[in-house]
Amino acid sequence: MARIVMKFGGTSMAGTERIRRVARIVQRQQAAGHEVAVVVSAMAGETDRLVNFCREANTLYDPAEYDVVVASGEQVTSGLLALTLQALGCKARSWLGWQLPIHTSDAHAKARILEIDSAALIAAMQGGEIAVIPGFQGLSEHNRITTLGRGGSDTSAVAVAAALKADRCDIYTDVDGVYTTDPRIVAKARKLARVTYEEMLELASVGSKVLQTRSVSLAMKEGVRVQVLSSFIDDDAPPADSLPGTMIVSDAELEGQEMERQLITGIAADKNEAKVTLTRVPDQPGAVAAIFGPLAAAQINVDMIIQNIAKDKGETDVTFTVPSSDLARTQALLEAQKDTIGYFRMISDSHVAKISVVGVGMRSHAGVAATMFKALADRRINIQAISTSEIKVSVLIDEDETELAVRVLHTAYGLDGE
Ligand code: ADP
Ligand code: ASP
Ligand code: MG
Repeated sequence: MARIVMKFGGTSMAGTERIRRVARIVQRQQAAGHEVAVVVSAMAGETDRLVNFCREANTLYDPAEYDVVVASGEQVTSGLLALTLQALGCKARSWLGWQLPIHTSDAHAKARILEIDSAALIAAMQGGEIAVIPGFQGLSEHNRITTLGRGGSDTSAVAVAAALKADRCDIYTDVDGVYTTDPRIVAKARKLARVTYEEMLELASVGSKVLQTRSVSLAMKEGVRVQVLSSFIDDDAPPADSLPGTMIVSDAELEGQEMERQLITGIAADKNEAKVTLTRVPDQPGAVAAIFGPLAAAQINVDMIIQNIAKDKGETDVTFTVPSSDLARTQALLEAQKDTIGYFRMISDSHVAKISVVGVGMRSHAGVAATMFKALADRRINIQAISTSEIKVSVLIDEDETELAVRVLHTAYGLDGE
């Protein structure tokens, strides 16, 4: 007997029929002799709808009230799944974030889970009851409902799995695993049997939204075994215990399986960045600090940075990227600092995309970046900025060329499947 946490995403929970299929998957998992807790998302599209209501009600909405509104989508699906399980003859009940409770920080709309009281859950599961927990929500130290940021149900599931010391956390979604790139963009993408925490973390953070980034870092820290698999399966599909999806594993688990290792594990695209260039910044100590200091103080995450060759006059152009959602604030802050920084013009462009190739194989192999630059050059795709980490190379390109670039690179690194 094992203890399994099962998470179902928005597409899997969209409507009565799909919830019935989810309930059958859950019932089957319990019938295999396991203790089961389930974490659910709101129905697909519901959270967007609720966010829009908040915007319509008050453009400068209070994040605490926003959380009250947007957390409701998961309350609905957790109740519906418990009802559907009961209709199948299972013992089931919902446990809302405030009932367990799932303690979080009070950073509304982007709260972090601090602790989960798991005693009630464990008692329920040991009594044969299926616990259904709404993802995405928690309770702040001020006794108010919080949410974890978009896509946060993945993190709820991993946190519940860690608190319950579960044997596995199965993330059921609308694709049957993690692929070499988004299978909806590249038909030749290949499913990966395993991917390391580190690579998945990097892939998620550069745009593979199949898992929320924070869920991966939490799984890595807590050693939670995570499987990504499909909920769109028939009753006679292979059971989750036979690991039909993608397992997220430690480096050590992949050791000795070098055959499985590709130089590049995956490719991701992110269209949610914007490029900002400040021209004719004084080329002197402190100039760059004057630009990025105020952005850091405003919690704006700067990603790629390039400082162009200083011109004869002791001036330089500085280009960097920020999340598109922070562009307006960035512009306002830098406008206010124009005299202090001493730049000439500010030019912004949100019609850009960041394409990243990720793989631990990069550590021991040279030439990964060169292959990328050549493949893009051959298709006349212009690179506007570059950044690298130990296991990742990212380039910034025109947004219109996103799909082409991902396909070209997928082929260039030999990732294409049948
Ligand atoms: P859920 O609602 O179940 O949380 P998401 O929409 O958040 O589902 O994540 C699943 C989606 O992630 C897939 O439909 C797919 O388009 C996308 N995706 C992006 N990159 C990848 C990848 N490398 N492998 C698999 N899916 C990916
Ligand atoms: N419903 C939330 C969202 O759409 C959380 C989640 O689905 O993971 O962002
Ligand atoms: Mg998701």
